[in-house]
Amino acid sequence: MSELKLCQGTRCHTYHTQDRLKGSKDNKTIQTRRRSNFYYGNGNFCSLNCQNDWFSEYGTKAIDHFGRLTEPKHLTEDNAWHKGYDWRGSSDQSHLYYFINAITKERRTITEEQYDDRNYVLNTN
Ligand SMILES: [Zn+2]
Repeated sequence: MSELKLCQGTRCHTYHTQDRLKGSKDNKTIQTRRRSNFYYGNGNFCSLNCQNDWFSEYGTKAIDHFGRLTEPKHLTEDNAWHKGYDWRGSSDQSHLYYFINAITKERRTITEEQYDDRNYVLNTN
């Protein structure tokens, strides 16, 4: 049995839901959610609301702590390839698979196997 994690939402305990209400008859409190797994924010939050609460309170500090972006990042021709597909036609259920370069708009046809292969890339990094 895996250990239970607490939602990291700063206001999780302020949302009035039945599952957050804990304790015995005279000693009930509304508590931060505790689960084996959460689906938001890399498994740290019980809901998008809680993730947003955390970001509202700590997001700017976190960005400043880990390094604020001060220059735009660049995607070059060498790294602008992405996969796509077209329907071949109504009578034929297959697709036409390709790589397209977002900068040059060059298009290269690939096979379905290459399309499905996550390791098959044209980008240089
Ligand atoms: Zn929460």
